[in-house]
Amino acid sequence: MKSFSLKALKIILAVLLISACATNIAGRKQLMLISENEAIKASKQAYSQTLQPFAEEGKLDSDPALVIRVNNITNRLVKQAKVLRKDSANWQWSVKVIDDPNTVNAWCMAGGRMAIYTGLIEKLDASDDEIAQVMGHEIAHALANHSAERISVAMASDMALGIYQSSTNASATSTGLATIAAQVALKLPNSRTSESEADKIGIELAARAGYDPHAAVSLWKKMAKVSGHGGLEFLSTHPAPKNREKTLKNLIPKMMPLYQAARDK
Ligand SMILES: [Zn+2]
Repeated sequence: MKSFSLKALKIILAVLLISACATNIAGRKQLMLISENEAIKASKQAYSQTLQPFAEEGKLDSDPALVIRVNNITNRLVKQAKVLRKDSANWQWSVKVIDDPNTVNAWCMAGGRMAIYTGLIEKLDASDDEIAQVMGHEIAHALANHSAERISVAMASDMALGIYQSSTNASATSTGLATIAAQVALKLPNSRTSESEADKIGIELAARAGYDPHAAVSLWKKMAKVSGHGGLEFLSTHPAPKNREKTLKNLIPKMMPLYQAARDK
């Protein structure tokens, strides 16, 4: 496969993309180059490769109190994720806190491996409710299979194909390309449709986990406020859908009973 030209690779991928289709939990048809299981497999390798440089510098989970705080929040969200999508109980749910005060970012890969950068918590001075909204939104992307969708897009991108072609150690298989694509996908923007889906699912996951839905609005307000100061990877990969703030605000009355019921438990 590696002897193919870049153009030929792209044509093959385009044909695959047209022929592949799946429906996600929001009921939307998605074009897919790889299955969700393949995305999970590729993400597992991409996860290790993404975290390795931080691990080598001692920048993973270096603040024990913050690790406990973040784990408490994500554990409650994951419990609700498993209710929403029963098969996600088999995922390898976990979260890492990356000590990088200059980067405002967080992600959840296919298969449930998550990370949050200290820059997001510090620069936004994020409350537990706001962290829950960020991670709920990220978990929602994974549950709605946006990960496989983004990997599919990344697979056909010049960036991934270029790395794949010039790489001597990448195995000449679709899994080799998918692993590179899974890393590239972390830097690609989600579509605005995906953003709207993740907003709706995320605020509900957080409410059912006992986190205040008002924090979804305050979170994006804070994001907008700190943007322009650099390091805001999160906003470049999560473009604003039309009327994000208004849509989230309108969802609050519907979310409050779920939030209150969880608080009363
Ligand atoms: Zn998003």
